[in-house]
Amino acid sequence: MTFDPQQFKQAFPLFAQAENQRLVYLDNAATTQRPQCVLDAIIHFYTHSNANTHRSSHRLARAATEMVEAVRVKLAAFVHAADAREMIYTRGATEALNLLASSIGQTLQEGDEIILSAADHHANLVPWQMLAQRQKIKLRFLPVDSLGRPDITQLPVLLNERTRLLSITAASNVLGCMTDLEAFGEMLAQHPCQWLLDASQLLAHEAVDVQALGCDYLVGSAHKFYGPTGIGFIYGRAAALAALPPWQGGGEMITRVTLEGSEFAAAPHRFEAGTSALASIAGLGAALDFLQGLDRVAIHEHESELLKYLHSELEKIPHLRLLSQPEGNLGLAVFVPSDNCAWSALDIAHWLDEQDIAVRVGQHCAQPLVAHLGVPSALRVSLAGYSTSEDVERLLNALRHLPLDVAEVGTTRLSASSTTSEDFFNGAVLDGLDLSELADQGWQQRYRRLMKWGDKLPEQPALRRAENLVQGCESAAWLKHRCVNGYHEFAIDSEARVVRGLSVLLLLLVQGRRSEDISRTELQQTFAGYGLDKHLSVSRSNGFAALVNAALLAVDMAQE
Ligand code: PMP
Repeated sequence: MTFDPQQFKQAFPLFAQAENQRLVYLDNAATTQRPQCVLDAIIHFYTHSNANTHRSSHRLARAATEMVEAVRVKLAAFVHAADAREMIYTRGATEALNLLASSIGQTLQEGDEIILSAADHHANLVPWQMLAQRQKIKLRFLPVDSLGRPDITQLPVLLNERTRLLSITAASNVLGCMTDLEAFGEMLAQHPCQWLLDASQLLAHEAVDVQALGCDYLVGSAHKFYGPTGIGFIYGRAAALAALPPWQGGGEMITRVTLEGSEFAAAPHRFEAGTSALASIAGLGAALDFLQGLDRVAIHEHESELLKYLHSELEKIPHLRLLSQPEGNLGLAVFVPSDNCAWSALDIAHWLDEQDIAVRVGQHCAQPLVAHLGVPSALRVSLAGYSTSEDVERLLNALRHLPLDVAEVGTTRLSASSTTSEDFFNGAVLDGLDLSELADQGWQQRYRRLMKWGDKLPEQPALRRAENLVQGCESAAWLKHRCVNGYHEFAIDSEARVVRGLSVLLLLLVQGRRSEDISRTELQQTFAGYGLDKHLSVSRSNGFAALVNAALLAVDMAQE
């Protein structure tokens, strides 16, 4: 029987909602949608057996406790752990990694070493960096190989008698490439150090067997495999967990408490202080049942076919440059505008969003890997079982037909080649531009106008310095401010045309004004009046909100 993605999609009520009829959801690596059975399980928990677990012994509490422990058994089966006590509930993969960094950290000595990789998500970098700083632990990094995976050939160079742990991604959230886990397992079998896998991306797509892999720890988040948010897990080999001290203290993780001290419970409860996300655990149980009932091999084949087609077609689009490849890839296509395309990755993402096609743009919480790829930000399309060929065709058509002429693309932006600070504040850029150009227009025309404005803002390479950087999640922008005789002046540049267009709008509202004539409320009302809040995520994500905040902060500081 072949897998039918359309039929599979029907299990997900989000797609049936009137407002989502046009939606093409291709951001599954960020989070998947949830099937009805997961939503039902959450509601069922609250309507039938809501009570706190493990502490009360009445009927409801027994039911809740039984549910939590039954889901733990399912979770163990999901990763093929030998014993349910090897499964610890956490808020997600991020919390799982922080827990392990803290608990493993307590067992380490100054000078011990941990190996990470340049392919990793921030969640598997930052907690270890924090630990290294706290305890003088040495971090070493596997570079990435030509496919973007942790380079196993470099492992023997980094392993030594001080290595205590290797913690790497099982599959990249940027490029989709899967780490050769068997090869790592074989090499590490010869070495006493422990190893930890961040399987956040892998679990939705591949069956995992922790015993066959031989890893000591593995972490994941339910929302990446059709489960709820707020719940994730650690698998920890029984002997490894037995040697770990707890992370957080509180109820449920103890056996005895006096005013002076406490005795801690055994794993897994030693690592589960306080009340867990009980309804989310119920939802996780339903997600695991749901996955269990699927032909996962057939889904994998469907995703692979779609991914292959997607890559082959993306390759043919001249204004795009592919960074990923379909082989050994669990469902991600990653690309950037080609060098001769004047659109930035963020501009393309907005164009897709205009057509209700959801992809991710930015650095994907993996800045070292994106820096290694040599691009400021990239677009990522991520597939799930419910992704259909119609979805992919809608995406491809939108990309093939980028209106490259919209904002006279191809015309070079006026370049402010001089690096003197005076030029930064060249007010002439606003000459001839007027807010009235945005009035009484439909959104499409207004968007095009903003894009045209974006090209009027001169390119200012000398402005692009670290001290002027205003970091947004999806694109960078640079802002400089000065106050002359009580009048505020701003210079702005951004790599994304849409942010530059928005910046022109901002400049029209603040440039050359006195503090008393610049009001946050008025700015916000103006932006809302033009529909920016509805059509563009004028949030921290595109950097524009950060620019507005930076401008207002500069005005405030000048007043003090
Ligand atoms: N690791 C990887 C590889 C991920 O893709 C993510 C989520 N983007 C995480 C860790 C963190 O997961 P969460 O946000 O659910 O804690």
